[in-house]
Parts: sequence; structure tokens; C-alpha cells
Amino acid sequence: MALIVQKYGGTSVKDTDRIKIVAEHVAQTAENGNDVIVVVSAPAGFTDDLTQRAARISDDPSPREMDMLLSTGEQISIALLAMALQELGHDAISLTGGQMRIFTDHAHTKARIQYIDLDRVKDELGNGRIVIVAGFQGRTQEHEITTLGRGGSDTTAVAIAAALSADLCEIYTDVDGIYTADPRVVKNPSKLSKISYDEMLELASLGAKVLHPRSVEMAKTHDVPLAVRSSYDTQTGGTLVVKTEALEKEYPVTGLACDQNAAEIVIYGVDDRPGIAAMIFNALADENVNVDLIIQSGVQNAKNDIAFTVPQNELKKTRRIINSLKDDVLYERVTFDDKVMKISAVGSGMVTGRGIAATMFRVFYENGVNIDMIGTSEIKISCIIRDEEGRKEKLMQALHDAFGLESIGENEDRKSE
Ligand code: ADP
Ligand code: ASP
Ligand code: MG
Repeated sequence: MALIVQKYGGTSVKDTDRIKIVAEHVAQTAENGNDVIVVVSAPAGFTDDLTQRAARISDDPSPREMDMLLSTGEQISIALLAMALQELGHDAISLTGGQMRIFTDHAHTKARIQYIDLDRVKDELGNGRIVIVAGFQGRTQEHEITTLGRGGSDTTAVAIAAALSADLCEIYTDVDGIYTADPRVVKNPSKLSKISYDEMLELASLGAKVLHPRSVEMAKTHDVPLAVRSSYDTQTGGTLVVKTEALEKEYPVTGLACDQNAAEIVIYGVDDRPGIAAMIFNALADENVNVDLIIQSGVQNAKNDIAFTVPQNELKKTRRIINSLKDDVLYERVTFDDKVMKISAVGSGMVTGRGIAATMFRVFYENGVNIDMIGTSEIKISCIIRDEEGRKEKLMQALHDAFGLESIGENEDRKSE
């Protein structure tokens, strides 16, 4: 008997018909002799709708109240799925994140799971029940409801799988695996039968929303066997996320990601003296702002410029912090721009591959695109560029073609058979 954690995303539980289909698949997994824990998201669009409702009332709602609001969507799905399983003759019980005893820190709207007290879930499984858990939510020691950041149900599933040393964590979604680029953006992506934790972590962090970044990080740390599959076609094999050693890298680039949720801040005319960068970035870190790319220009007349990016939803906070530093940092002026996007190429084969950055820059040049910022690591190159109508699709396709990504992954396996 195996212990399997399955997670179903928003489109997979968007209405009662889909919930019944999910229930059948869960029931089948249990009937095959497995212990099953199911994590579900809110019905598709529900969390967005709640966010918009809050925005109509306040342009800066309290994070605690946002969590109180956003956590409600998942509660609908767990109750309906438990009922659907009971209709199929299975003993199932739904649990909120709090009832599942998922303890988080206090960072409302982007809380991190600290530990899971397993007593309750072990009892339920011991009584032969299928346990249905609300994704994306947890609780603090003080019984406050927290959420894990948008897309966080994946992280709930992996955290539970890690805590219980599950045999498998399956993420069921509306695509049948991980592709070389978002199949909704590029016309000929290839499905990867396997991808390494490291590459998937980069892709997820850089905007490929198929998995929540924290879920991949956690799967990597705890060696959780992780699979991404389609809830619409449970027979098709999906993608396995595995350790790097298991993969032979023949291709420098494994995948592309685009993040339209970036904002760029440029602080001009900053004094060139020790401690200035520390002052700016400590102030941002103290308020939990997630700073990404940072560039400092060359010094001119004892001044330089510092540019960096943050997620768009942290721009308001960033603006307040940078404005408040004016008297200490003595900068000349600052610009805040949320019309930018980050396009990235990821691949562990880049460590040895050559000319990757050159190919990427050539594609931007051929498409008349100016690059604002560049960031690299051993396995990724990211460029910040202006976000204009149609640019994302055009550039992602051009890069996908330039790196020959249509013929890697399963397409290539098929060719060589
Ligand atoms: P769920 O609601 O099931 O959690 P998400 O919308 O969060 O689903 O994630 C699935 C979506 O991720 C797909 O519909 C697809 O458009 C997008 N996506 C982005 N990049 C990729 C990729 N490289 N491979 C597969 N899907 C991707
Ligand atoms: N419902 C939440 C969201 O839409 C969490 C999730 O679906 O993973 O972000
Ligand atoms: Mg998701």
C-alpha cells in the first residue's frame, strides 16, 4: 500500500461536474489500495474574484483580512469534493489548513509553512478515510488564518507529502505536464518527460506558474517524488520532477519563462560610498520586499545609479520605502515602472553550453527590443524588457525557435524511436 498525495488545481474543480470527475479518480486511487490525501484549490477564478472585490473596497487592504477572505474559496472545494466521494461510497473528510494543523509564520498573504502536526491526519487515515485538505492556507500559533501566496496549493500538497514521507505527490492541472514553454503562449512546445528540481525551481520562480516555486523548493529539500499530470486525461503520463543526476543534459536550454508581474525601480544619482546599497536593500528586506535583479551602473562624478526589480504587487510598498530614504541616501531622482516583463531561459546544460546569452540577445535585437537589465546564474539568463502588446508571444516564440526547443523532450524521444 502506498501513500499518495494528489493536488487538483482550480480548473480541475471549477464546477460540480469537474468535482465529480475528480472524485472518481480519487476513489479509483483509493480502491487500488492506496492511502490518499487530496489537496484542492478554490474553483477557477474564485480567488481572483475575491481579490477584485477587496480592491473595490480598499486599495491597500489589511493582509490579515485578505487572508480571511481568500481562504474561503478552498473551503468550498473541499466540502463539495468530500460530499462527492461520500456519494461514491467512500469515507472522506474535509479539513481546512488549520484543522489539518499546518502551522505557518505570521507573514499574511505570503506565509511560509513551519511544520505540520500530523496527529489528526494520521488518525483520519488510520480510520480508513480519504482526507481532503484545503490548499493554500495554514494557521499561526495564535489561530490566525494565513495564506501561502497565489498558487500556493501546490506547496500545501508537497509539504504534506514531505511531512508524511509520501510515496508520490501528484499535481493534477489543466495541462498534461511541464513543457519547454507555456503551451498557451508558444505554438509548438515539447513536453518534458523529466525535469530537474533545480531547473523547475528556476522556471517556477521566473514566472512559469505551472508549479508554485516554494513547492519545488520543498520537494527538492525533502526528496519528494513529484509528478505533474492532467486531471482531464489521467491516463497520459505527465512530467516527473527529479534530481539532476538522473538527467543527461544534451540541450543547453530546457525551458523558457515569462513574468509580466515585474516592476523596475531606478534610483539615479546615488552617492558612491560604502553602506548606501546596504541601507536601501536592508530597508526593503525589513519589510519583506522580494527584490530580484539588481544592477549598479559605473561611477560618474562620485555618483552612480542603482536599478532593481520587485513583484508588481510590492511596488506601492517599495515606493513608500524608497521615498522615505531620500534624506539618508541623498539620491537625485527615482523612477518606478510597472510596464516591464522578465523573459528567462533556463537549463542546467548552460553550465557547459556556449553562446546562450548571445543567442538570446540576438533574438531581442532582431525583434527591435532593447534590454533594460540582465541577470544570470549558472542555469539561467533573465532579461528585463518593456512589456508591450503582443511582445511576450512574439519573443517567446522567437526564442523557442532559436533554441530549437520544439525538438527536445518527448518530441525528441519519439523521433529517435
Ligand atoms: P492550477 O489551477 O491547476 O494550479 P495553474 O494555472 O496554476 O493551474 O498552472 C497551469 C498553467 O501553467 C497552464 O495552464 C499553463 O498555461 C501554465 N504554464 C506556464 N508555463 C508552463 C510550462 N512550462 N509548462 C506547462 N504549463 C505552463
Ligand atoms: N486559490 C489560490 C490561487 O488562486 C491558490 C491556488 O490555486 O493554488 O492562487
Ligand atoms: Mg497553480
